[in-house]
Amino acid sequence: MATVLDIAKRNPNAAPLAVSDAARAAGFIEKTAELNVVAGAAPGGASLVGLTRDQLKDSLAAIDVPERELKMRVAQLWHWIYFRGARDFAEMTNMGKELRAKLSTAYTLARPQVVSEQVSKDGTRKWLIRMASTGPLDKGAEIECVYIPEVDRGTLCVSSQVGCTLTCSFCHTGTQRLVRNLTSAEIVAQLIVARDAIGDWPGATPPDGAFVPSDGGRFVSNIVFMGMGEPLYNTDNVVAAIDVMSDGEGLTLSRRRITVSTSGVVPQMERLGAEANTMLAISLHAVRDELRDELVPINRKYDIKQLLDACRAYPGLSNARRITFEYVMLKGVNDSDADARKLVQLLKGIPAKINLIPFNPWPGSKYECSDWERIERFSEIVYRAGYASPVRTPRGRDILAACGQLKSETEKLRARARMMAEQGIGAEGVYAVGNGE
Ligand code: SF4
Repeated sequence: MATVLDIAKRNPNAAPLAVSDAARAAGFIEKTAELNVVAGAAPGGASLVGLTRDQLKDSLAAIDVPERELKMRVAQLWHWIYFRGARDFAEMTNMGKELRAKLSTAYTLARPQVVSEQVSKDGTRKWLIRMASTGPLDKGAEIECVYIPEVDRGTLCVSSQVGCTLTCSFCHTGTQRLVRNLTSAEIVAQLIVARDAIGDWPGATPPDGAFVPSDGGRFVSNIVFMGMGEPLYNTDNVVAAIDVMSDGEGLTLSRRRITVSTSGVVPQMERLGAEANTMLAISLHAVRDELRDELVPINRKYDIKQLLDACRAYPGLSNARRITFEYVMLKGVNDSDADARKLVQLLKGIPAKINLIPFNPWPGSKYECSDWERIERFSEIVYRAGYASPVRTPRGRDILAACGQLKSETEKLRARARMMAEQGIGAEGVYAVGNGE
C-alpha cells in the first residue's frame, strides 16, 4: 500500500515518487529526488538556532560585524544559543545594545514549531515538529522526535530526512513519500526543542511530573539517529549537526553517546567514523542475502559481506566501542535457531551487541511478530555465543510513540480517508531506542 503524506503534496521539494506494492515487487530499492534545501541558514527564515560556527560567522558578517570581532562574537552567540538556550537576544548581556538591536532586526532565535506533544505514562515524550517554510508553497515539513527517559540517561531519537529514500519491506516509513533531507540546523533544532520542552538548560526546571534522569547529568544525554530517514543518505548534514551537538562549549553531547543507525550505506560508513566519530548501529534484520534483499533492499547494492567488511573497518571500533546490530524478529521469516547461529557466525571478530526487536505490525504489513518463546530462544543462542542480546521493548506505546504514528494521528485530523494508511510504524525510530552507552 502506497502512502503519500499530506505534507508532500504541498512541499516544492517533494519527490515525484511514492512507493507502491508493485514497485516494491519489481525490486524498487530507493526513491530519488532533489533532496536538499538551501544550506547556510535555517530554511524559510532567519533563525540562528541550529547553525554551525561558520554559518553564524557568515550571518554576523552579513550585518556588518567587523572581521576582527567575528570570532569573539561567534563564541558569544554560541554560548547563549547552545549552552544557555537563550530565546531572546536581549538576554545576551555581554554584547552591546547596538549589536543586540542589529541582531534582533536581522535574525531570530526561533525554534521549529511543536505541532503536538504527547507524554506516555512511562515518561516517553513524542513531538511532531514542523520545520520553517522553505518557500511560498511550503507549509513546512513535519518530522517526529522522541524522548525516552531512564533513570541514568535520556535518549533523544532524531530524524535525518522527511520520509525515507529506502523501501525496507517491514517498515512503514519506507512506504512514505520522500520529501527532502533535513538541513544540519533542522537536525540540531530537534535537540533544542527537546531541551526547551523538558527544561534541560542551566537554571531551567522540567515540567511538573516529568520523568527525567535523576543521576545529576543532562536530561538529554544520548542521541540516536533512528527517526525518519537514512542518515547516511544525508551525511553532510548529519556530520555537521553532530559537530554542533558535540561541541564542548555548547550542547556538549559526547560523541560516544551519539549513535548513527544505517541500513547499510557502505560507501559512507568509513566517512562517518572518520569525521563524526560516533557509535554505529546497523539495521541488519537478516543473515542471508536473499532474505535481506527483500527486508532491506539496499542489500542488493551492498550485500551482507560488503556491509560486514565495512563494519570491521569502522574507525575506532573496539570492545569499548561496539557496533549495535538491530534485528527485528519476524515470525517464520528470520527467527529460526539456524538464523541465530548464522548471525553469531557472521559477526565473528566484530565487537558487537545485538538488539532483538519485537516487530510491531502495521495495517498492510505482511509480517507478524515472532512468538515470545522464539525470541527468548534466539536471544539465548546469541547470548551463549558471548554477545549481549537485549530484547528491546518499545516505549510509549500508549501515545503511539512508534515512529510514524504521531504523524498519522495528525493526518487523521486532516484527512480521515488516510486514517488507516497512516497508522504504521517506522522501524528505525521505534525499536532500537535505548541502545548505546
Ligand atoms: S527501516 Fe529505516 S532505512 Fe529502511 S525504510 Fe524504514 S526508515 Fe528507511
